[in-house]
Amino acid sequence: MTLPTGGKVNFLAAASGKCPVCGQGRLFKSYLKAADSCAACGQDFKAADTGDGPVVFVILIAGFIACGGLLTTFFLYPDWSPMIHLMIWPAVAVIVSLLLMQPLKALMIASQLRNKVRD
Ligand SMILES: [Zn+2]
Repeated sequence: MTLPTGGKVNFLAAASGKCPVCGQGRLFKSYLKAADSCAACGQDFKAADTGDGPVVFVILIAGFIACGGLLTTFFLYPDWSPMIHLMIWPAVAVIVSLLLMQPLKALMIASQLRNKVRD
């Protein structure tokens, strides 16, 4: 299958786990494993390998949220026990990471298709 021509990629469909080209087929066959191709339009996803690219953005965003929340609550609620912070903010970092990983990987796959990245 050929990669799409520029400008024909739907980033919103990709962020919701759909094929960035047709918006119909599923982009992932498991949580982080991209499908080999779209079942609806046949778009090949094997050429768009994101590697560890999305992880960088997930780390930056989740780290900013968790560290920002920790510092904010640390100074706003000085009477909180450190154990409360240890229970809240690592869990927030994990949850935000899990929520962001698939959409950011999908956006990176869509970006690679949009920019015609090849092996
Ligand atoms: Zn498709």
